[in-house]
Amino acid sequence: MTDQTLGFSSRAIHAGQEPDPTTGAVVPPIYATSTYKQDGIGGLRGGYEYSRSANPTRTALEECLAALEGGERGFAFASGLAAEDTLIRSVLAPGDHVLLPSDAYGGTHRLFDKVARPWGISFDTPPQSDLDRVRAAVRPETRLIWVETPTNPMLGIADIEALATIAHDAGALLVVDNTFASSYLQQPIALGADVVLHSTTKYAGGHSDVVGGALVARQGAKTAAGDDVSERIGFHQNSMGAVAGPFDAWLVLRGLKTLAVRMERHCDNAEKVVDFLLSHPGVSTVHYPGLADHPGHEIAKRQMRRFGGMVSFQLKGGEDVAAKVVAETQLWTLGESLGGVESLIEHPGRMTHASVAGTDLAVPADLVRLSVGIEDADDLIADLRQSLDRLA
Ligand SMILES: *Cc1c(COP(=O)(O)O)cnc(C)c1O
Repeated sequence: MTDQTLGFSSRAIHAGQEPDPTTGAVVPPIYATSTYKQDGIGGLRGGYEYSRSANPTRTALEECLAALEGGERGFAFASGLAAEDTLIRSVLAPGDHVLLPSDAYGGTHRLFDKVARPWGISFDTPPQSDLDRVRAAVRPETRLIWVETPTNPMLGIADIEALATIAHDAGALLVVDNTFASSYLQQPIALGADVVLHSTTKYAGGHSDVVGGALVARQGAKTAAGDDVSERIGFHQNSMGAVAGPFDAWLVLRGLKTLAVRMERHCDNAEKVVDFLLSHPGVSTVHYPGLADHPGHEIAKRQMRRFGGMVSFQLKGGEDVAAKVVAETQLWTLGESLGGVESLIEHPGRMTHASVAGTDLAVPADLVRLSVGIEDADDLIADLRQSLDRLA
């Protein structure tokens, strides 16, 4: 059932999820167990020995993730950042150099800046939409190029295929954080990525009820030292132990089954919300890769199925109006995170991106970010309209 000739939704619903051999249960059970009876010393049933190393609910999720991304193996973690930390220690060593997006997810930037750097990893942040600057930033000790596309919260687009070529010419690995696009809208391994990362907290889980992370490695991906990337990650996942528990793995697996239909609806609604925002006199700029005048539109069209559920916009009235607009919506919930069925609204300058104020990562003060959910588009637009009409 990991057959790559099956369509995306068939894999999402079946990969790693054969009916339970004992009972026929259609849904993989939550195996709430830490250990497993051995039939004589070393007589493991299905290879299960201890649940940090492997747990059947987590295995089901990991096989499904690998099938969805077209990778060799999937790995499920307790959070997106746990996945990132495990990856960093799996494929990097002190002295290595990394290229990060200039507008990387704040937690990713913090992990490299405050945790990996003191440990001996250096990094630079050339803008990834400018391939010449990326090429110029590569050093002999560059081992990893880390890509996010679309980016948060400006929805910038990076050319995965071109960046994979730059990475591989330099003997480095290409990692793509695919959280914003989701596996359904973008397939980085097919475009040359070595490892795909997700915060499954977001679209993969999709219901704002679980925190999780995932890595999927490309078949045959090797580190500069010649080690197999899947084996390195598998070894470190078990050695470091930041695994997804069985309840959390089960929730993400359930979320994945509806990923395709949810993403189609997220995209439909986002397109309608974008049209409304473009027509509102209080809005100065709308950022959405689906717009023909978005600087990354042509690349996004090539590498994404559709343009996603994240939208941001700027207000003519400036920061104070932006901060009031996000507080005055009813159906849109004021909150951080993204990718759930419910629509969220936030002011990045004072919320998700407050910690990067005054740095290169600072975002416009008049910016509002939307995670467009799957409610009725008319209701979402009516709520935005009542807030914008009064305040903007
Ligand atoms: C949320 C997020 C992360 C971190 O994931 P957690 O599950 O919160 O640890 C990483 N990258 C992106 C793009 C994210 O949105």
